[in-house]
Amino acid sequence: MINQIREDLKNNLTVKRFDHSMRVIETARDLAKIHGEDLQKATLAALCHDYAKCIDHNQYKDIAASSDEKLDDCMICDLGLAHGMIGAILIKERYNIDNEDILNAVRYHTYGRPSMSRLEKIIYLADYIEPGRKFEGIEKLRQMARADLDQCMILALRSSIDYVKSRNKHVHPKSIEALKYYINEEVSV
Ligand code: FE
Ligand code: FE
Repeated sequence: MINQIREDLKNNLTVKRFDHSMRVIETARDLAKIHGEDLQKATLAALCHDYAKCIDHNQYKDIAASSDEKLDDCMICDLGLAHGMIGAILIKERYNIDNEDILNAVRYHTYGRPSMSRLEKIIYLADYIEPGRKFEGIEKLRQMARADLDQCMILALRSSIDYVKSRNKHVHPKSIEALKYYINEEVSV
């Protein structure tokens, strides 16, 4: 199945996006080994995380409607925010992937959520710090991802929220909820 999905992505994603997905796989596998996550699950979730990017945003509404899911207000304003959710819907339909953890890792990789599973955090972070990414402070995130996933979520969510704000785009409320959640976790430990 992995080979089939890889072929489909290669044929439908731009070279840039396909290469990004391959680097997310590498980073996710690396983090999975360090943190004891299932390698197969990490590989499949990383491979599929940007699946919906091969589809025109204008189709997102119809795809959501056909699966009884609803785009939230934030997604309606900025359809790009829905690519995780739409990806999860499509990989379930097209490849019969029904592992909830994999589907959630794809679904929440763009903006996060409170109380993420280990796999969800690995995919979120691998997408953020894969070797092709460059921004100030990324080396600290790369080190922290290896040392402590929850602490790294705080850094990554903060950095991502600041970046989205700086571009005057919508910050998804789940990102704020997630940041608060991980800060509280840190205090309560
Ligand atoms: Fe993405
Ligand atoms: Fe991505």
